Amino acid sequence: MTKSQERRIANELVFKSRNENSKRMALDVLDHESRATYKLNFVCECSNEHCTEPLALTVIEYLNSRRNERQFLLKPGHQQSDIETVIRNEVITVVEKFELPMTIDGRLKPSR
Ligand SMILES: [Zn+2]
Repeated sequence: MTKSQERRIANELVFKSRNENSKRMALDVLDHESRATYKLNFVCECSNEHCTEPLALTVIEYLNSRRNERQFLLKPGHQQSDIETVIRNEVITVVEKFELPMTIDGRLKPSR
């Protein structure tokens, strides 16, 4: 994996962690019905650090979109074929990383 690829995936991990925080807060404050009906503005988890595109999803849709930690939720067209492959392409695009620049404990590897 090149430094550029690592940096772009690190950007995606930052966006994903913002969405995970939003999900936790939504689960705290929304009742059962609202979790399935109230659209939240999650953020596009693409590699462009300047991307501000919202992903309007209910928290239930968000929870059902990702199958494993290598998958990221993107606005359609924001995927980059050298670091990820498209798994699903609907209202949102779900991509899966070929590889994550992570250590065993889930942290980013330090830069060499
Ligand atoms: Zn994006």
